[in-house]
Amino acid sequence: MDNERKTCADGPAPPEPARFLWRGPLFWLPVATGLGLVAAWIAVVVQVDFGRSPLVILPLLVGVGLGAMLVGLMRLAQVGHRPTIVIGTVAIALATVASQHYIGYLKTYRWPRQNANLLVPQALSVVDFDEYMQQRAKNGLSLPWGYTARNRLAWLVWAIDGLLVLGATLSVVVPGVRLPYCNRCLSWYRVIRSGRIDVEASRALAEVVGLVVPDRAGAARYRLLACNAGCGPAGLDLSWEQPSRNTSSNRTWLNPQQHNQLTQALDKINAQQHSSPSAASNRNQRKLGD
Ligand SMILES: [Zn+2]
Repeated sequence: MDNERKTCADGPAPPEPARFLWRGPLFWLPVATGLGLVAAWIAVVVQVDFGRSPLVILPLLVGVGLGAMLVGLMRLAQVGHRPTIVIGTVAIALATVASQHYIGYLKTYRWPRQNANLLVPQALSVVDFDEYMQQRAKNGLSLPWGYTARNRLAWLVWAIDGLLVLGATLSVVVPGVRLPYCNRCLSWYRVIRSGRIDVEASRALAEVVGLVVPDRAGAARYRLLACNAGCGPAGLDLSWEQPSRNTSSNRTWLNPQQHNQLTQALDKINAQQHSSPSAASNRNQRKLGD
């Protein structure tokens, strides 16, 4: 399990949740909605122009791609207010699904192309979107093994398709908002240093932050977190591999003195690993921008 969090008793409090900023609804939301339209457009091109509509796989790909774009934009714009992000993500994912149908309608009736795989080829008299959807449901959707979903079953397939897009999008966005956010310099915390170290080396780090190395602990992983301006407090994630199925994970917030001690301990561990034959296994990343 990687979800246990502890704060050092005498250490600083964790950063407060990100506060609301207008850049969320005024910048992130409109641009993210535009990215949703791009995802919808690509999905329709795959279906209409290339004649491919793989069930399950296509909505999952759309959702994962949309989620990655939303998280990237969230970090680029340094928007951290979680309710804005989560509610916005749900709205954008649902709008993306609806847009897919509407773009399909536009491509079929408003901007038809020769040789395109029209979604309702025989319903040439259909003019509005509502009629288009009814006609599509009546004509039926092709399912694997020669089945066709018609009428209510077609709507059910579309509903499932929409939920898959929504679920896949959230599966990317929700873990993306788990890092802390600094309300002082308005930036997401990022990993500035990380690596895998042996249990002996991990004792030095555990000592700095007042943690006890678990019994029968194996190799440890650490991540040092900080905001862009280094306002503090810095965070340390420390976890150990254990013979049982789980790893034990701890997040500790560091005061300036602990931060200095930890940096020195990491430098020492780094130097030892580089001078030992097992240096190849060391994956320490130096501070970004160094
Ligand atoms: Zn900061």
